[in-house]
Amino acid sequence: MENKITIHLASPRGFCAGVDRAIEIVKKTIKKYGTPVYVRHEIVHNKYVVNQLKKLGAIFVEELDELQDKKRPVIFSAHGVPKTVPEYAKRENFFFIDATCPLVSKVHREAEQLYKNNFKILLIGHANHPEVIGTMGQLPEGAIDLIETNNDAELYNNLNDKKPLAYITQTTLSVDDTKEIIKILKNKFPNIKPPAKDDICYATTNRQMAVKKIAPLCEMILIIGSNNSSNSVRLVEVAKKSGCENSFLMNSENKNLIKEILKCKNVGISSGASAPEKLVLDLINNIKQYAKVELREVEIAKENISFKLPKNLN
Ligand code: SF4
Repeated sequence: MENKITIHLASPRGFCAGVDRAIEIVKKTIKKYGTPVYVRHEIVHNKYVVNQLKKLGAIFVEELDELQDKKRPVIFSAHGVPKTVPEYAKRENFFFIDATCPLVSKVHREAEQLYKNNFKILLIGHANHPEVIGTMGQLPEGAIDLIETNNDAELYNNLNDKKPLAYITQTTLSVDDTKEIIKILKNKFPNIKPPAKDDICYATTNRQMAVKKIAPLCEMILIIGSNNSSNSVRLVEVAKKSGCENSFLMNSENKNLIKEILKCKNVGISSGASAPEKLVLDLINNIKQYAKVELREVEIAKENISFKLPKNLN
């Protein structure tokens, strides 16, 4: 085996406290109440996790009217849901458990408070992402305007609306891109009210910082994560912007990068907040079959956050 590859392993990577909690909620619900247990939307955006939970007896649906047996528990995903969802569940007498990440719920409460205080709210985020749908759905239509890009921020005007402005953000955005959007908004609207504490969560921030650190060292970076995982896709963008143009998302649809990997001497690996460590280890073991590997962990922060489970599952 002549090939020698140094793998720069970004840390922290993989599961965050919100994902851990959401998966635990599904497992504990199955344990306590038996199968099937319904889950509205992928509990977290990772195909491997979803398939493992299906094997345990979870049934994934997109909307509550798809439930075949209305007496079984239904869990709402970590991304959060619009208010109409629990309202519907209550009307129909469903037994539901909310696995929304507490850091997403924090943004929901923030939006409600701003609305109560008569602010017009700008949400910086990506249209159609379930978290954005959930956050916008906390308030009546028109209460929140979505800002996706620098251009949206530049073109935004509130001439028809005399309310003071405030902004909140999706939790899994690129820290740097969001800073730029906020800068534009602040230039245009110097009095715009920021959130009390950043809405981009600790896990998103740490994973991006770790990838930034390894990017200049690597000829190629692989981010383990599903295509629909916002924070994983952001990690690829961050890697590219930080000096490693040759960066890719790696998942089950995208397995044959091994030939490309073997052309490199320095490869970076990280994983999105919804990707299990097993997939990282599988990738490293796969590379080890073809090359001599030296592992270098690059740790930029320690994480020791955990969130409590709902009371009825303790
Ligand atoms: S990425 Fe952040 S907001 Fe999303 S589930 Fe994890 S901790 Fe919560």
